[in-house]
Amino acid sequence: MGICIALAGNPNSGKTTLFNHLTASSQYVGNWPGVTVEKKSGRLKNRPDVSVVDLPGIYSLSPYTPEEVVSRDFLLSGEAQAILNLVDATNIERNLFLTTQLLELGLPVVVALNMADLLAKNGDVVDADALAQSLGCPVISISALKQQGTAQAAEAAVQAAQSGPAAVAKPLPLTPVIEEALAGMAAQIGEGVPPNKLRWTLIKALERDEAAIQSLNLAPEQRRCAEALSAGLETVLDDDAEGIITTARYERVDAMVTASIQKKARSATHSNKIDNLVTNRWLALPIFAAMMVAMYYVSIVLVGNVVTGWLTEDFFAGLIGTNLAAWLQGLGAAAWAVSLVTDGIVGGVGAVLGFVPQMAVLFLFLCFLEDVGYMARVAFIMDRIFRKFGLSGKSFIPILISSGCGVPGILATQTIENESDRRMTAMTATFIPCGAKLPVIALIGGAVLGGSWWVATAIYFAGVASIILTGAMLKKTRLFAGEATPFVMELPAYHLPSAKNLALHVWNRVREYLVKAGTVIFLASVVLWFLLSFGIQGGRFGVAGVENSFLARIGGVLAPLFAPLGFGSWDAAMAVLAGFVGKENLVSALSITANLAGSAGGGAAPLFAYAQAMLPGTAAGLSFLLFNMLNAPCFAAIAALHRQMRGGQWTAFAIGYQCVYAYAVSLMVYQFGSWFAGGAFTAGTGFAVAVLALLLLMLLRPARKAPST
Ligand code: GDP
Ligand code: MG
Repeated sequence: MGICIALAGNPNSGKTTLFNHLTASSQYVGNWPGVTVEKKSGRLKNRPDVSVVDLPGIYSLSPYTPEEVVSRDFLLSGEAQAILNLVDATNIERNLFLTTQLLELGLPVVVALNMADLLAKNGDVVDADALAQSLGCPVISISALKQQGTAQAAEAAVQAAQSGPAAVAKPLPLTPVIEEALAGMAAQIGEGVPPNKLRWTLIKALERDEAAIQSLNLAPEQRRCAEALSAGLETVLDDDAEGIITTARYERVDAMVTASIQKKARSATHSNKIDNLVTNRWLALPIFAAMMVAMYYVSIVLVGNVVTGWLTEDFFAGLIGTNLAAWLQGLGAAAWAVSLVTDGIVGGVGAVLGFVPQMAVLFLFLCFLEDVGYMARVAFIMDRIFRKFGLSGKSFIPILISSGCGVPGILATQTIENESDRRMTAMTATFIPCGAKLPVIALIGGAVLGGSWWVATAIYFAGVASIILTGAMLKKTRLFAGEATPFVMELPAYHLPSAKNLALHVWNRVREYLVKAGTVIFLASVVLWFLLSFGIQGGRFGVAGVENSFLARIGGVLAPLFAPLGFGSWDAAMAVLAGFVGKENLVSALSITANLAGSAGGGAAPLFAYAQAMLPGTAAGLSFLLFNMLNAPCFAAIAALHRQMRGGQWTAFAIGYQCVYAYAVSLMVYQFGSWFAGGAFTAGTGFAVAVLALLLLMLLRPARKAPST
């Protein structure tokens, strides 16, 4: 039979880093808690018979958060034969608190004392042998990041797993009063409990842990006795049973830490000084905004202008497209086939591929800010703002993840316990521009909005503002009423990311994008080319100019709907539709249209010029861009949304809300924009005023009480 090792530990203790290294996988490592929501498993390098399971980070084995439940259920299930407990040596008290609980599970435990490199840098010294003595289990100093000691730790865990019952960890004794209560509990309910689970069961019963008690199937009389024991302990020590046990655990941990660790005295660290600055009440947001401006400026304006133009026009359209066309013509291919390959496939896929360099730079920035530890501070800053609107800062982690891709962002909402908060976050997470929206921003920003440096940042903050606005409006409805979940998050230590981790991150994202370009976008380009080349003219099916194609017809039907938003043409409507396949597909669709329109009229019609003609003016450009950023996300994200909403009606509500909201915003932007620019007050302006009034009404009306349950 194979061996299974469970990796358990506090959030941010380095479990996933170790897991990736031990199993040669590339799971998501983030410098903030709550990244690993589900357990992941892999096989030990060179030891395919040993599987390793990376559990979500937890602070204790209580059953309160989804992470705790997942980890606890797994550890109790008997699937793992040993626990490799990662302990962040720079936060040792809090980490060992969990260790005291893991020792009670009736499994062998090996402690891997992680972040040895940081410890050495801080000048602290840990006596691993002394700690091993106090804990009664092996303790091995490691650095998951620098890959020191990791093989030994894995080896020790495998050995412990193979040694079976002999290696099972011995629980630490708590205070005499508690031990006495536990002895009493053993007499009442201990019968029939397997010996290796006894300690865990007794403590959980004393703590009144409902999940644990239920699994015991106690007789009513036994339950009463157990309850009396808890109550007795509480009277003696004047605290609730759970608190009493927690205190006792911390006392043990404190004694151990004093005996085995020498901490170097420190004045305010660099980390504290930086934190005072970046979380400063007044400076925090401007600093964040400046970071975002820098990020988008470098990726879209600097890199984008130089590389993307060259890639899309000179390389793909020019070099590849022209040569491919010549080659196909040489082979005697039909005109339609040449058009399919050059206008359709090279045009569609090439337009998307042209944005890869900017995307890589953007992801490099995002990963760096995250790994350094800055993004965790941003979540902390946002919590201050979110709370004013009844939202929880906990919602901000999924939102941050969404700036890479909405799908993992939506799935990360799983850690939000409060159902209405979870739904609201899943519904609004994709307001944040993800990587696939970058090409759209770059195209419209570059072609229509003058390539301005502020466009992408404005879109990012429009997304944040939309989340806050939605929260503020919907919290007042009965569907979403209720208190915000309290958000507690420790701030991880700043550290310089390893180049390898960064490269891995960026490569993973870019690879996903490339795969999408080669599959979904490729297929969509073929379909789009077909629908843009053929049509029914004079009652006959056949090749038609783009203007008469199937898509022009379909777009034409929808176009009047978008006229009040400033982009009531068939091609703009068609682009909006194409965006549901993947937001970058919108760019493909326009590129193919531009190509076909160009070939029809003779001469090239580059993408930028086409977009410029389609969206005359800043107000229309901004309105079109915002509409595509804020409306329903791509199919993949909708599927994730559906999973998270747990109910078709909720999914429909979410999509409906997103589209209506996006419509309202774009309407106001276009109508007020053109009015302020000196246009006349039209029926459309009146419509926008009405929408604004409705929005303000929703925002300012008194809150509804939460439904009593
Ligand atoms: P998890 O939440 O327990 O899965 O922790 P992660 O593996 O995601 O790591 C959290 C952060 O700690 C990441 O930024 C890692 O790069 C960093 N980290 C992990 N191990 C070490 C280590 O040994 N030394 C240092 N300096 N940083 C580490
Ligand atoms: Mg993790």
